[in-house]
Amino acid sequence: MSDCIFCKIVAKEIPATILHEDDDVLVFMDIGPIIKGHALVISKKHYDPVTETPDDILAKLHITAKRIAAAQMNALGAGGVNIMQNNGTAAGQEVPHIHVHVIPRFKTDGHHWNWNPTAYDDFEEIAKLAEKMRNHL
Ligand code: 5GP
Ligand code: ZN
Repeated sequence: MSDCIFCKIVAKEIPATILHEDDDVLVFMDIGPIIKGHALVISKKHYDPVTETPDDILAKLHITAKRIAAAQMNALGAGGVNIMQNNGTAAGQEVPHIHVHVIPRFKTDGHHWNWNPTAYDDFEEIAKLAEKMRNHL
């Protein structure tokens, strides 16, 4: 995709700090880290969103994310990692090219996700939503 910023990074048309590269995936440092050390694992081919990404590529992205997570813990001393993958503007995705965020976390990093659990009206509401989804699996 000629107007995709991540395709341009793959093509080395714009610079990025690359951590790892193979035939299928590229890993580079996120320019706007949630926590310093934040890396992005992307497919070399343009796919978007997750539902349009081939299973083998998706598996490779997540296996690579696991390796990056280990590096963040072993090399940076992270106590944990957040592995995230956004799809669609409704989900906060800014770059429409499949990518997995790997974010190192430290007890003292001060970051808090805006994770505010809500509630269902009743069990029937849960069951109805589950039934709708089950019918599309
Ligand atoms: P999204 O919101 O699409 O899940 O995440 C896109 C991520 O790409 C953001 O965390 C953003 O900081 C990062 N990003 C956007 N443009 C560039 C760029 O040109 N270079 C790098 N290294 N990261 C980028
Ligand atoms: Zn792309």
